[in-house]
Amino acid sequence: MGLIVQKYGGTSVGSVERIHRVAARALAAQAEGHQVVVIVSAMAGETNRLLGLAEQVSQGAPSGAGIIPDQRELDVIAATGEQVSSALLALAIHARGGRAKSLLGHQLKIRTDSAYTKARILGIEADAVRRALADGAVAVVAGFQGVDDDGNITTLGRGGSDTSAVAVAAAVGASVCEIYTDVDGVYTTDPNVCPSARKIERISYEEMLELASVGAKVLQIRSVELAMKYSVPIHVRSSFSDVPGTWVTGEDRAGRTGAATGSLESIVVTGVACDKNDARVMLVSVEDRPGVVARIFGDLARENISVDMIIQNAAVDAAGRTDVTFTVNKDDLPRVRPVMEALLEKVSAQGLRYDESVAKVSIVGLGMRSHAGVAARMFELLAAEGINIQAISTSEIKVSCLCDAKYAELAVRALHDGFGLGNAPGAKVESHGG
Ligand code: ADP
Ligand code: ASP
Ligand code: MG
Repeated sequence: MGLIVQKYGGTSVGSVERIHRVAARALAAQAEGHQVVVIVSAMAGETNRLLGLAEQVSQGAPSGAGIIPDQRELDVIAATGEQVSSALLALAIHARGGRAKSLLGHQLKIRTDSAYTKARILGIEADAVRRALADGAVAVVAGFQGVDDDGNITTLGRGGSDTSAVAVAAAVGASVCEIYTDVDGVYTTDPNVCPSARKIERISYEEMLELASVGAKVLQIRSVELAMKYSVPIHVRSSFSDVPGTWVTGEDRAGRTGAATGSLESIVVTGVACDKNDARVMLVSVEDRPGVVARIFGDLARENISVDMIIQNAAVDAAGRTDVTFTVNKDDLPRVRPVMEALLEKVSAQGLRYDESVAKVSIVGLGMRSHAGVAARMFELLAAEGINIQAISTSEIKVSCLCDAKYAELAVRALHDGFGLGNAPGAKVESHGG
């Protein structure tokens, strides 16, 4: 018994029948004696539809020249998806004889900065949630949205309802944040890409953070950051069944240090992920002198554009020039292009190239800290499939390789099975029982 937060993703609230199923689940938890806060996403496909409309209007100027839609207005539009689903769920709970109250980002309130379309949460004043709970109601919170100090509606980035859920769970002191989605847990890789993927029973925040950051979109990365910071246990599970899902918890609770689960130490790679949302940008023949790279990435940072992989060699020609290559999110490209055009002259570069058909495949595992040769094995596995590596980046517990997008699925399967994560008898992931 206690206070629990349940978050339902787009597929889980994708139809009237499914919204009723969510209502029944929330009421069942309440009947067991819990106080229940539900965070909802927009109905499946709705956010894409809304942003598509914004795009169409922006491209439809009488002059024929499209404009980049204003980010503030995009957030006003995108936030309506969650406004609708939260009220629909409240109505479904009423229809079943329960009490419920919908609460929007500005009503809670979820205070954010003003970085439209990817705002960060600054704080949550959850009094409205506490009042609804004290009234015996299910508090139904619209995910994904917040409000800045000037009262503007903001959104938290795609997949941001996960972050809303963990933030609310931390603010109200919930004992667990249940993330209900269309898969029944976190798998060794995306089960929709690799049929031999296996469910992980427990995973540490740290590994989940890396997996999320390299494309495992089952949880938005910032939700994991917050869960780690405030020690909120996350239970990722299916809204279509009652089977236990995956617990995302601290390293101890994830079983890494317990004597009974000592065999986990031998797991080097926990998961494989793939991200096709990146684009590669190359600034050709740039002067190799102090301050040039600072200039390039400083200008991008001022536009709030995040850069992922970066490659710069020492000067490659006699004139002391080299190429600077990096990756950004494809969605940011319309804002990246003008910055790069302006930079061409400033850093006296000789050209610009963009490649949107790239994929980043990554392996993640705490065991990499203490095992040498993991990256080498990854390169071998990719080479054996004839896959060329265009860029590499690493962290203590992750290796990422950029390759041609057409090889993405092949690369994931080769790495997943090559590191023994598949369903084959004796696969090491068996011992993830923690
Ligand atoms: P929701 O709409 O419920 O937020 P998402 O589509 O954002 O759901 O996330 C669930 C999806 O994440 C799954 O359908 C699956 O394709 C994808 N996914 C990617 N990597 C993994 C993984 N390692 N384990 C489970 N699901 C994954
Ligand atoms: N509806 C938003 C999206 O599609 C937020 C979410 O679903 O978490 O990105
Ligand atoms: Mg999601």
